[in-house]
Amino acid sequence: MTRTHGADDATVLVVNSGSSSLKYAVVKPDSGEFLADGIIEQIGSEQVPDHDAALRAAFDELAGQGLHLDTLGLVAVGHRVVHGGKTFYRPTLIDSELIAKVEELSPLAPLHNPPALLGIEVARKLLPDLPHVAVFDTAFFHNLPEAAATYAIDREVAERWGVRRYGFHGTSHQYVSEQAAAFLGRPYDSLNQIVLHLGNGASASAIAGGRPVDTSMGLTPMEGLVMGTRSGDVDPGIIMYLCRAAGMDVQGIDTMLNRESGVRGLGGDNDFRKLHARIESGDENAQLAYDVYIHRLRKYVGAYLAVLGRTDVVSFTAGVGENDAAVRRDALAGLSGLGIEIDDALNASPSRDTRRISAPDSPVTVLVVPTNEELAIARASVALV
Ligand code: ADP
Repeated sequence: MTRTHGADDATVLVVNSGSSSLKYAVVKPDSGEFLADGIIEQIGSEQVPDHDAALRAAFDELAGQGLHLDTLGLVAVGHRVVHGGKTFYRPTLIDSELIAKVEELSPLAPLHNPPALLGIEVARKLLPDLPHVAVFDTAFFHNLPEAAATYAIDREVAERWGVRRYGFHGTSHQYVSEQAAAFLGRPYDSLNQIVLHLGNGASASAIAGGRPVDTSMGLTPMEGLVMGTRSGDVDPGIIMYLCRAAGMDVQGIDTMLNRESGVRGLGGDNDFRKLHARIESGDENAQLAYDVYIHRLRKYVGAYLAVLGRTDVVSFTAGVGENDAAVRRDALAGLSGLGIEIDDALNASPSRDTRRISAPDSPVTVLVVPTNEELAIARASVALV
């Protein structure tokens, strides 16, 4: 049987390539339907030696589900790229010039951009006839007001080295804030919103009338909220102190702040389900980790309420934000004086849909909005090609 693929039938392969894992999804951008998605882990192991093997394994998994690349109606491959620097602020067709420029940005995102490039390289090799599109995590925030984007450091050093606040998780912040407006039936540009993306990485954003005006991640994804394994904000003096007093080097401090800090560094586990279990069994370190996490989150909510002046919506998203009712409750407890009142029963509902969790008379609406970065990347890719 011959099948022709109309626009509705178009599918996009989305690739999110990290250093040790490769996530993939086959998405119909129009309907939002996922034909398949999965993750190939342990890249660098015997079974999956490199990114080439990882993508081939993903294709094998698809074939195992009866999904063959040549009959899927693929119109594009969308790639998540973490750091677009100042160069890239919209979805961009991938060519050798883009690859060279993303490579130049690698010092800004050494953990993220090089593996994304490996994913792009093998995907272009295995699917040479399709357009490949890069969607940047920084793009949504490219127009942050200078007051929010500028670090108060020596100007020449900052300019020479591109040191400014770029923000990350932009695809998610944009998708979730648009979903929130649609859910409320309100024009996007009429709303002031705070989005709390709480996954393994975590970030907050303030969006005024549809324009992002602040976000918690900065030059790198290390700034801001306490995360699964990252510290978020620290006194920069800590770094110099540890160099001088403890004899630690840059690599050691980088590893500590990126991988051995945050909720896991303090409480032994970065999975909030396990953290709660530890707390229940009386683990004081886990309790402290949770308290530090919540304290930082509340500080950012307060800061963004002030940045915005008037806030219509606060949305929780990503693994922790969508699933952990205790985090949502504790992050916003006692803020009725600031117009935020959560309804405990609504907050405790196990629904997986976009939903309101604020009390009916709460001046600020609080929502849980499941994020869907793959769908957003698929839509951005198809819009470009
Ligand atoms: P990322 O994409 O940044 O890796 P996710 O957004 O998938 O992260 O979030 C992963 C985290 O979400 C897990 O580490 C865990 O802490 C948290 N999480 C997932 N499910 C639940 C749940 N049911 N209850 C509480 N936390 C959860």
